[in-house]
Amino acid sequence: MASDPLYDIRDPRFRHLIVSNARLEELYSGCRWAEGPVWFNDANQLIWSDIPNQRMLRWTPGGGVSVFREPSNFANGHTRDREGRLVSCEHGARRVTRTEPDGTITVLAEHHQGRRLNSPNDVVVKSDGSVWFTDPTYGILSDYEGYRAEPEQETRNVYRLDPASGAIEAVASDFNQPNGLAFSPDERVLYVADSGASHDESLPRHIRAFDVADGRRLANGRVFCDIDNGIPDGIRTDMAGNLWSSAGDGVHCFAPDGMLLGKILVPQTVANLTFGGPRRNRLFVAATNSLYSIYVTATGAQVP
Ligand code: MG
Repeated sequence: MASDPLYDIRDPRFRHLIVSNARLEELYSGCRWAEGPVWFNDANQLIWSDIPNQRMLRWTPGGGVSVFREPSNFANGHTRDREGRLVSCEHGARRVTRTEPDGTITVLAEHHQGRRLNSPNDVVVKSDGSVWFTDPTYGILSDYEGYRAEPEQETRNVYRLDPASGAIEAVASDFNQPNGLAFSPDERVLYVADSGASHDESLPRHIRAFDVADGRRLANGRVFCDIDNGIPDGIRTDMAGNLWSSAGDGVHCFAPDGMLLGKILVPQTVANLTFGGPRRNRLFVAATNSLYSIYVTATGAQVP
């Protein structure tokens, strides 16, 4: 298959998802570990995390970059709920929070069965308002991206927070290090990355798929795809159901059947990505020191 320095095309379908003459733009450099990009169309801004630097940054088209929140409690992944409020995972405080329109912070989750969470990593909100997040141990392994501590949970879980009761329930407990997560556009499938290979080569570097039963339980867990370079961290889906994953050499795009369609090659290890811009056709990529963007023809599935 033909390829060029920006794209590694593995399947002809990938050509219909990318803009052949687009360029990868570096919007900012100066992070230690960029993560958690989230787009605010109403504010025409992107917020993302610089985890070890204890800050969240804001980028606006034409306006450059400014500090959004500092200190950030070593915030990692972010999303928005259906009312447009920012929902964040904080390594340092080992919790999931919501930022209200007036800027005050509401704690959504910090304990499970009476014990502290490990270090919530990434989060998505379903259309029914339920909040789904992962809880690996990365934020308590050292003092670099959180505060070193012994885990209080026996397993590294995927959780669902009930929008009515606020209770959290573990919906998957058989991950090594659950990480990024994303719903299919119809919310019938939840994808969850397992990045266990980050600290042990023998452990998973794959993305699993689950059927979402009754809108609230996970069933029929299976390996959706393996990542052939680096590990999967943050993931997103587009309106056609393709899955876009972070990886060591860039962004990998998989068809709904798990086939690798192609890659956007990025010069630094990619941790996370999101679709943004007024048409949700601009991919924002958090990659180690830098925030990049590139236009695609795919349209991001996330709402708002
Ligand atoms: Mg992550």
